[in-house]
Amino acid sequence: MDSAVKERLKEILGPDGFSDSLIDLISYAKDASEFKRRPDAAIWPKTTEQVSKVLELADREKIPVVPRGAGTSLAGLAVPEKGGLVMDLGRMNRILEINIVDRLAVVQPGVVYANLDKALSVQGFFFPPDPASGSVCTLGGNVATNAGGIKGAKYGTTKDYVLALEVVLPGGRILRTGSRCMKSVSGYDLTKLFVGSEGTLGVITEITLKISPRPPLNSTAMALFEDLEDAGKAVSDIMHSGIIPSALEIVDQQTLKAINQNTDLNLPEVEAILVAETDGYTKEETEFQLDKILRIFEKNKATSVKRAATKSEADALWTARKTAYGVMARINNNLFVEDLAVPMSNVSKMLRIIADLATKYDLKIPTVGHAGDGNLHPVISFDGTDPDEVRRVEEASAELFEKVLELGGTLTGEHGIGLAKARFMGQEHSDLSMAMMRAIKRVFDPNNILNPGKMALEQ
Ligand SMILES: Cc1cc2nc3c(=O)[nH]c(=O)nc-3n(C[C@H](O)[C@H](O)[C@H](O)COP(=O)(O)OP(=O)(O)OC[C@H]3O[C@@H](n4cnc5c(N)ncnc54)[C@H](O)[C@@H]3O)c2cc1C
Repeated sequence: MDSAVKERLKEILGPDGFSDSLIDLISYAKDASEFKRRPDAAIWPKTTEQVSKVLELADREKIPVVPRGAGTSLAGLAVPEKGGLVMDLGRMNRILEINIVDRLAVVQPGVVYANLDKALSVQGFFFPPDPASGSVCTLGGNVATNAGGIKGAKYGTTKDYVLALEVVLPGGRILRTGSRCMKSVSGYDLTKLFVGSEGTLGVITEITLKISPRPPLNSTAMALFEDLEDAGKAVSDIMHSGIIPSALEIVDQQTLKAINQNTDLNLPEVEAILVAETDGYTKEETEFQLDKILRIFEKNKATSVKRAATKSEADALWTARKTAYGVMARINNNLFVEDLAVPMSNVSKMLRIIADLATKYDLKIPTVGHAGDGNLHPVISFDGTDPDEVRRVEEASAELFEKVLELGGTLTGEHGIGLAKARFMGQEHSDLSMAMMRAIKRVFDPNNILNPGKMALEQ
């Protein structure tokens, strides 16, 4: 990047809004995935006008721009694959409006999920997607990745809550999409096009979100299954029972072993554990739902069922699920937190396939997942300095996603395509679908400056 461009960026953003120091370039070379590539500079805009001026300049000079929230992407979405500028939106972090009567919140993209959740909880409301990274990830990142979480089966994902956006397009034009209404079918849904677009179409500078009343009570239970198929059957029976749990999580045997090796929790190493939570406005309501789930656990041969009587007992039941990522990171030097979804009737089949792949490729692949919506996270831990192990990981990943698609699944339920899954896009989407996606990219970003190299949009 030539020095005249750097000077112009400093003029636009002010001296504290631009850096090309080595420490910043190294920091912005990575997100939470294993991918890395240094940018040429990092920038911190504070206003939509600054974002617009930067995108005007970058488009003219054909400089790549990668929008960035908190950099928690697990699939390389925020890595500047082609260098250029990383645009950190973290300073645009104001909650602009919470309007209970209209049931919406208007926020800047750098607001951290948990900060909005805290502000809403005071008023008895919440923004349900609840990603596990919620204490650090930003709402701009959540919209750009269509983030989900453990409440997905009951409350859906980010896309179900985005009403309107302000987006700056390459070249600097400022686009407003959607409306403040709960319903609108006025024209093409441009808002949804940006949800999950991974920073490849525009920079989101303002978000209007639908918010929901927060059910104040919940009930929790955990069941152990000696047989994976029984756990899978219990999941599909629950989802057909008319009860929709607010969370239904699965933890497999490999994960339980990893937890036992790294903690003193001493969990039974059964084939699967299911943790279920119900929510509502009265204890009768949450317990009625949980009773029905417990009967289904028992009918499907759960060997042990525990119902939490108190909040601390519920927290204890969640411990196995919540310690999972932490202990997996301790198994080996490197970690691919994979993300896939299958139709719910295929959850146990998918878990069995993952266990077989671990044996076939001699790898550790503990798996946890949101069983209630068929979204699983096999975690491949490996030693990246061992070329043979790296080769086995690549082969296992390729076979894993082949099997996912054979089961009618999808490459990603919530983490996105980014760099990690770009090579598989053509297997899930037809040539015509890919051509349409590339045509859309060209309409918004003809010079391919926004987050280039992602989602297989360039081939
Ligand atoms: C421990 C852990 C747990 C996680 N759990 C979950 C989970 O439960 N559910 C889930 O869905 N994900 C989860 N993730 C993944 C990640 O947190 C989400 O994808 C999150 O939405 C990313 O937000 P971010 O602010 O970190 O965005 P970043 O990682 O910085 O960016 C992600 C993508 O969004 C784009 N982007 C960011 N801001 C903007 C903007 N303003 N305009 C346009 N594009 C933008 C970037 O270019 C990039 O493509 C987890 C990650 C970790 C590390």
